[in-house]
Amino acid sequence: MLYVDPWCLLEPDGSLPLQQPQLWPKVMQLAEAIQAGWDLPRQTTRQTLLLCTKRPQRKRCPGPLWVARQEDDRLLVFCPVCNTEQMLIQNWQSTPWAGVRPAPVALEPETLVADQVDLDQLAEALSLNFEDWQSYLDLETGEILNVPGECFDQLEEDEPSLFTDVDLVEEHLEEARRIHEDATGRFTAIDPLESHERFAIMESFLVELPEGRMRRQLENALRGRKPFRRFKDELQVEPAVRERWFRFEREALRAHASRWLEEARAGRELTYPATSRR
Ligand SMILES: [Zn+2]
Repeated sequence: MLYVDPWCLLEPDGSLPLQQPQLWPKVMQLAEAIQAGWDLPRQTTRQTLLLCTKRPQRKRCPGPLWVARQEDDRLLVFCPVCNTEQMLIQNWQSTPWAGVRPAPVALEPETLVADQVDLDQLAEALSLNFEDWQSYLDLETGEILNVPGECFDQLEEDEPSLFTDVDLVEEHLEEARRIHEDATGRFTAIDPLESHERFAIMESFLVELPEGRMRRQLENALRGRKPFRRFKDELQVEPAVRERWFRFEREALRAHASRWLEEARAGRELTYPATSRR
């Protein structure tokens, strides 16, 4: 059984640990258990919305989990179907989920825009680096625009070079013009992750990988020459770890994208208070 103190997983103000997206599923489980159990009288129990994760005889246990508030005030999460105790939660009383729900927060127009941004698409734009293309986020519509750099050359009336793809420039010229001529700050350039940032994501993946051959190989890859390439190659060896990496990377990029988005919006408010209230 797992003994949990939620405060080991949360930021001091009770929010999600932004730097560690791999912990979020665990935090959400805790949140659900505490929300289902905080108002129970001691020595009583009720069903939660969580499903059992045990696999007796290799088949997923179909049990819904229950939470009981024990005599000593800890919350016990257990499965009555496969009869296992799964978590014992202490020190939960001051977490954000123990008590009435937080007061509703009104959706401001700006918040709506943030919600329209496709985080996966933004994460992709932040992680990919296509030479000669530049991505922009339109802070008013949430749309992500990809524009060939040559369009801007043309708008600045440079002579097209022999290699200019005229059709491509034509196709994106209007978008480029809107970005080029905008004076309200609605378009923010999306610059791809620096390689030290990508490196940090790989390193934090290793931290959560169990000790063993695979982890050692990956650590060696990161320490040697051409770390990005070798890291990728090593992952080919074990498809399960590779899958796990892809999930981890996706979550890390999404977390990065959401921080980036917050900063972009805050930056615009500082610079253009009038237009953001339109
Ligand atoms: Zn079960």
